[in-house]
Amino acid sequence: MISVSPPGVLHTSHFNAFNVAQVLSELSHEGRKSIHLSPLEHPWPVCFTAAVSKVLDEAGIPNFVWGDLLNAWRGNPHIPNICGFVVPTEGIQKAIDAIAMAGLPVCSCESFEHLSNPESLLSLPIHFCVPQEYGRNVLLFLCPNDVLLNLIPLTSARANPASLQYDRIRLSLHNELYFSQNDNNAVDPISSVKTTHVTNVLTTASLIKAWLLLDVLSAPHRVGFAYTYSFLLHLMAPHAIPEGPYDFESKSLQTMWEKVYIGGDWSPETFESLQNEVRLEWEDLILGKDNRDE
Ligand SMILES: [Zn+2]
Repeated sequence: MISVSPPGVLHTSHFNAFNVAQVLSELSHEGRKSIHLSPLEHPWPVCFTAAVSKVLDEAGIPNFVWGDLLNAWRGNPHIPNICGFVVPTEGIQKAIDAIAMAGLPVCSCESFEHLSNPESLLSLPIHFCVPQEYGRNVLLFLCPNDVLLNLIPLTSARANPASLQYDRIRLSLHNELYFSQNDNNAVDPISSVKTTHVTNVLTTASLIKAWLLLDVLSAPHRVGFAYTYSFLLHLMAPHAIPEGPYDFESKSLQTMWEKVYIGGDWSPETFESLQNEVRLEWEDLILGKDNRDE
């Protein structure tokens, strides 16, 4: 059900021993030499996102783009000042360390300005402040997959209970004007070492499907960061690229999307009854023991 092979980190089995040594040496050299997480070297937001994904991949941490930039790519009319990544829950400390090693220490503040006040619905899980030459600072955040109910298909070994699909998108590490493009067949890490990096991005339909599920099934204090999922769905309905209709392969999600978000029936009675239908269809599958974090 996934649109491409689930992402590995670096499938060395495709190469002979000589090539493996060469690749590892080149990656390691390039990693030390060029990946310094500074927006001067990797302009915000796209090149910076490519660089973070590369740092995580090289540390062996599966990762998916999540948050502002993903939403903007999928049509949300918004200038991203937050970039995020979903990573495995058990790999979160390793991810924090890898980003710190690349020059960006985790920010431990609890300020409203950094969306990190734990009392607030706007609280992000783990954040890094990315200094900018001009204008206000921007944020990178890491989100453990369990905060997203383990919905994101980070590796092929994990469950993909909502059958979410994703694209592999090739991004430039340095050139802001580079035209990002789908490269679902990208298998060769060598060619992308110096100038581009390929990262994992949910398709528009799967992003909407994930939000519909998260909105109904998340704990009340986790219905959204910066925006609620419901608000994002309202925003996305008239703007999503490509335009629908989408097939969510689910009667309850299909009805919720079409009636509330496309049709504009926002009466509490309708919403409550549709939420119950979503719970009936999905609660066991998403919140049951088979989808708990290992
Ligand atoms: Zn902070």
